[in-house]
Amino acid sequence: MNTRTRTIRAVGVTAAAACFAIGMSNGMARAATPTIDMARVLVAAQIEPDCGQTAALSDNASTIPVQQALAAKGIATTADGWYGNGTTSSYAAWQRRLGYSGIDANGLPGLSSLTSLGSGRFTLAHKVNIGSRTDSYGGKRVNTRTRLMLQAADNLLPRWNFSLVQGSYNPGGVGASAGTHDGGGVVDVSVAGLSSTQMWEEVRALRTVGFAAWLRTPAQNFDYHIHAVAIADPDIWQQDGGHVARDQVCSFWRGHNGLAGDGLDNTPSAYRVSFTWWEKYKGI
Ligand SMILES: [Zn+2]
Repeated sequence: MNTRTRTIRAVGVTAAAACFAIGMSNGMARAATPTIDMARVLVAAQIEPDCGQTAALSDNASTIPVQQALAAKGIATTADGWYGNGTTSSYAAWQRRLGYSGIDANGLPGLSSLTSLGSGRFTLAHKVNIGSRTDSYGGKRVNTRTRLMLQAADNLLPRWNFSLVQGSYNPGGVGASAGTHDGGGVVDVSVAGLSSTQMWEEVRALRTVGFAAWLRTPAQNFDYHIHAVAIADPDIWQQDGGHVARDQVCSFWRGHNGLAGDGLDNTPSAYRVSFTWWEKYKGI
């Protein structure tokens, strides 16, 4: 009974939507509104400014409609599918026009600004939803998306529990972090008491669920810990030309270590996984 009711309702909605579309078409053939992959746009927005347009990850079918929509709003944007610094600036201008500032105007498309931009132009699939910015994991502040990612990584290693040394949204936090923890999606995971193998297993678990994660070591002038950036998190901090956490995603993607010298990733091959992000991993 319920199923039948739902079916009838769904047909009614479809018919109404079709009528609306015909009414709007004004007799001209009109291309269907594209559906874009929001997570993939964010991945491009984090990798392509520093790494260039990436053949392996580029998704022009998702990025070009965003660029075209920005141009249609009167914000000069080249619709070439490359989410570089130009598109980042244009997107930040769109966010400021919506009245956003600070982290909400960082040039990375968040759910509300992208939904607003797409009104009448495109719809979103694979939505990246950070949830609450004041969620927590093990007593450290993170957003909900990051918490879910950490829990999923932790569940891959049931023999011990992950704990955090440092959370996100932590301006003026640990000095050696170069501002990377000011925004969302960035955490330091403890490796205290773990064997070398266990440390690498933690790195692999974090990478598996979509973190750009590296073991930091005393040889790199750090206390042992894992620095992890939640790939495609739109809250990654960018200010005054400082794109450190964002560009760490590019560094990770090309197999480097995300540090100032951008050396090679020292992770043993057995603990590396294919580049992925949370929505892809979860099938969101
Ligand atoms: Zn860190």
